[in-house]
Amino acid sequence: METQTLANTIDVTNPINLKTLYSISDPTREEIDAVFSTARQVQPKIGALSHKERVAEMMKINTYVIENQEMLITKIQEETGKSRLDALTAEVFEILDVIDHFAKVTPKVLADQKIETPLVLLGKKSRVVYEPLGTVLLIAPWNFPFYQGIVPALLAFLAGNSVVFKPSEITPLKGVWEEMIEKSGFMKDAIQVVYGGKETGKNCIEAKPNKVHFTGSVRAGKQIMAQCAPHLIPVDLELGGKDPSLVFEDINIERTVNGIMWGGFTNCGQSCTSIERLYVHEKIYDELVAMLVDRTKKLRSSHPDRNIHDPEDCDVGTVTTEFQCQIIDRQIQDAVQKGAKVMCGGKREPNSRHYPPTIVVDVDHTMEVMMEETFGPVIGVMKFSTEEEALKLANDSPYGLSASVWSKDLKRAERVAKKIVTGNVSINNHMLTEGNPALPFGGVKDSGFGRYKGDWGLHTFSNVKSILFDQQGKQLDPHWYPFTKTKYQMLTDIIKHYFSRPRNWIQFAIIGLKLDSIGRKERIQ
Ligand code: NAD
Repeated sequence: METQTLANTIDVTNPINLKTLYSISDPTREEIDAVFSTARQVQPKIGALSHKERVAEMMKINTYVIENQEMLITKIQEETGKSRLDALTAEVFEILDVIDHFAKVTPKVLADQKIETPLVLLGKKSRVVYEPLGTVLLIAPWNFPFYQGIVPALLAFLAGNSVVFKPSEITPLKGVWEEMIEKSGFMKDAIQVVYGGKETGKNCIEAKPNKVHFTGSVRAGKQIMAQCAPHLIPVDLELGGKDPSLVFEDINIERTVNGIMWGGFTNCGQSCTSIERLYVHEKIYDELVAMLVDRTKKLRSSHPDRNIHDPEDCDVGTVTTEFQCQIIDRQIQDAVQKGAKVMCGGKREPNSRHYPPTIVVDVDHTMEVMMEETFGPVIGVMKFSTEEEALKLANDSPYGLSASVWSKDLKRAERVAKKIVTGNVSINNHMLTEGNPALPFGGVKDSGFGRYKGDWGLHTFSNVKSILFDQQGKQLDPHWYPFTKTKYQMLTDIIKHYFSRPRNWIQFAIIGLKLDSIGRKERIQ
């Protein structure tokens, strides 16, 4: 292969004070090929481990994360700027919760499964077995740098695959992965990390992994799918979102406002399932918006002198990237020009990425802030008068990742939840489907496809193989050669007597016996 030197060096910046932390460089194609070669060599060893042994390996990471929680949180904060509590809940607590769940269910979920065999295949047995795919490539974004890497990596490993992980160039957590794998004693080379940017991602795909699990933007997702297509590499695409939150008139306003603030501003709004569009019933609109704005103003925003070690230094962290700040600025400007009103926030601290939580009203669906992913601490609020109108607004979006419905009337909430075109809905809460590792996660429309977590989280990284067992008797199957008029007639009779309703069991039994004797007589000698 042609040697390719990629001299691209990328600075990793602390978004809180804009200081450079370190740099990474894109590896050469040869270096990437060497990583994949190692991954392919180690995979059969992983595949040979029992499910319980794989779980035991995973538990080494569990112990390491618990013992090194504070160090991990600090490193994550340095690269993302998130608040300490956000890092604790989403990047540590949730990972441990996922590990806890899969430690329990993996042997059962990946066990060979007996499957029903229809009567027309009498005497045969069916089974599904879950086998590894080989080497899985994970490409991750910057918003949950630890969680988005370790969770799919562990699930792919539990399914028996080796893993090559390319973290985001913005938050690579360089050194954290290597140290964790070495110090925890986790199986060597089972999960390898390749640092670099977009070109490195592309070069990793050129190394032809057996599957690509991608989490990131719609734009990159489309490019990745196109690159995978000629090689028929299967892809999971976990893409962006523009979550709607529908609030009905019968709610407890105090509780709902607090839930909405968290749903919109946790991780500084940089979650694919953040509340970005809030639709409120006209009867409670004024009261709810007034309380939401008042409470939002009281949230402690990030600032350059933050003491990241203090869990009370801020509620809403920093916007991680400059380009994300520019998107937010652009969307706010667009909305204001079209008549929207900024009730709080709306402007970052000069020369910084500290963006206060922002509420915008008088918005509509002609505005970018209501139609394009913001990925920042911004909630646009609109009024609705009927359930139908709320649903129409919620579904008027290219995205379909997650949503929430708030109402005391759980029947109505469920009815509405089922009519929202999306992958996940939380009722009287937000993004909490993600909090349950037993539930699958994934989107529809521009939010991508594929499901991970839940039983799907292991099956998505498996070759789901069907096996049918037949006997080595003397009998020949009626659909085998020679093809005769009698066989044709009898199979036609089966269609008539067995598949029609009601079934004619007596005729079916008679034909069955006849076919049985034909199976013994009519054969190629
Ligand atoms: P991004 O798409 O720019 O980058 C994500 C990763 O893909 C990075 O590692 C990047 O280097 C790599 N990459 C980019 N282009 C590539 C290409 N052509 N080939 C190979 N690799 C490529 O996304 P981002 O800005 O890092 O993350 C933010 C986006 O991620 C948002 O849209 C957000 O909604 C989405 N996201 C989705 C989920 C989900 O589960 N659905 C979760 C978190 C974030």
